[in-house]
Amino acid sequence: MPTRYIFITGGVISGLGKGIVTSSIGKMLQFRGFKVTACKIDPYINYDAGTLRPTEHGEVWVTEDGGEIDQDLGHYERFLDINIPKSHNITTGQVFYEVIKKEREGKYLGQTVQPIPHVTDEIKRRIREVAEKSKADFVLVEIGGTVGDYENVLFLEAARQMRLEKEDVLYVHVAYLPMPKSLGEMKTKAVQHSVRELGNFGIQPDFIIGRADTYLDDVRKKKIALFCNVNEEDVISDPEIDNIYKLPLIFEEERFGDKILSKFGLPPIKPRNEKWKRFLEKVDNLTETLKIGIVGKYFDIGEFRLPDSYISVIEAIKHASWHNSRKPIIEWIDSKTFEEEKGNLSVLDEVDGIIVPGGFGTTGIEGKIMAIRYARENNLPFLGLCLGLQLAVVEFARNVCGLEGANSTEIDPDTPHPVIDLLPEQKKILKKSRYGATMRLGGQIIKIKPSTLAHRLYGRTEIIERFRHRYEINPEYVGLLEDHGFVFSGMTPDGRIMQIGEIPNHPFFIGSQFHPEFTSRVLRPNPLFNGFIKACMERTE
Ligand code: GLN
Repeated sequence: MPTRYIFITGGVISGLGKGIVTSSIGKMLQFRGFKVTACKIDPYINYDAGTLRPTEHGEVWVTEDGGEIDQDLGHYERFLDINIPKSHNITTGQVFYEVIKKEREGKYLGQTVQPIPHVTDEIKRRIREVAEKSKADFVLVEIGGTVGDYENVLFLEAARQMRLEKEDVLYVHVAYLPMPKSLGEMKTKAVQHSVRELGNFGIQPDFIIGRADTYLDDVRKKKIALFCNVNEEDVISDPEIDNIYKLPLIFEEERFGDKILSKFGLPPIKPRNEKWKRFLEKVDNLTETLKIGIVGKYFDIGEFRLPDSYISVIEAIKHASWHNSRKPIIEWIDSKTFEEEKGNLSVLDEVDGIIVPGGFGTTGIEGKIMAIRYARENNLPFLGLCLGLQLAVVEFARNVCGLEGANSTEIDPDTPHPVIDLLPEQKKILKKSRYGATMRLGGQIIKIKPSTLAHRLYGRTEIIERFRHRYEINPEYVGLLEDHGFVFSGMTPDGRIMQIGEIPNHPFFIGSQFHPEFTSRVLRPNPLFNGFIKACMERTE
């Protein structure tokens, strides 16, 4: 079967959840037995998402092969339960970099190098390479941004050319229908305009997905069909839902999966989505809750962006809680309030466990350390992610080993006890002021020590998890920490870098140098999160 391509564009406003739509289309095809992969086009000039501000752009997703990518790739992986390599993220920066490099190398000798065809050829080459390498039956290509933006024009042009070049291509346009209060009805005009704009680039959508507060009614569908030149049955509802993972099932109500197959000339196939359906039905009926505190620094994050900056952590909490038949309630706990007033730590009595997530910089650090101490001394379940582990080591060094002023050199370069210090390879890189893609990144093998909590949770002595950091536990302090009862239960295969730390004789106290949230999947929670949730449950019982 030749690869088939489905392009997903957006119209009217950004933030429509195109990534969820893309993932859901993929899931419907997977339910029909097809091999699916997805790629994301980000029209910005950054080479990758590594140097973007998470509070503005959402969290940085780390791929198994060490890419720092837009969070949509995370949705694809969570929905589709596949590993997606970094080459599936195509940015304007990468495309131009490549074209200019080729020009310098004389690969276009004698030619005038132009946006069309040279840049569009490079875009198509990358998309086709995704198809070739993944050997997928369907490649979904989500074009970031909104139709009408200057910056995605060349990508739309490349998408147009692919059909012209006789590839099997479908275009799906996701657009927003506002419902002004004063009118009390959904309006289609903005959708019409965005489809017309798409038409200016020579693309006629095969499907229009109407993103709105509720389902589209027949009147709306008829109107969109007539004005946008699509069949009425190819206008699909994308209503507001309480759980994103339901979208593949909602699309199925309108037989969207089979309609896609039919456009490709394929016969309908009954989707095998029973397991997914049953799981989500169970989630719908959960009554017992768990309160999970995420202790972070939140001053520079507006209300709305908070969940985006920690999206993988939140999803990992959901997957593990649902797996254990609990509905999670997430409490955002600002660590700076502890620094202002120690008594504020009593908010920790109201949660069933705390997570200290990853982070960079010095703000709110002492408050996080206070929270970790509180969790250690009060038997509160604790899970530390990357920075969270590093600070657990600092706390232990100071308050158990008696190393006054112990710290990470990221926070205090002059600390008398640098228990967390730069990885040796990072020292060289930082001297050259290189920041893009220079951290220790991606999936690495970790050896797990038998008879530890980590071993019980993973049930194996070797795992692969994903990293994104510059600092490590200083090997010079490992012996001393261990003498005082800290257990390093995971390390690099050469035994040099400590990767998991835990404290025995505590209901649940563990931290990892990697980010376990990146390998959590809807039906397959990550073992560290799963163990953490179980410990939180035991505490409530
Ligand atoms: N800032 C720390 C480091 O670079 C932790 C990074 C993280 O939490 N991802 O090692």
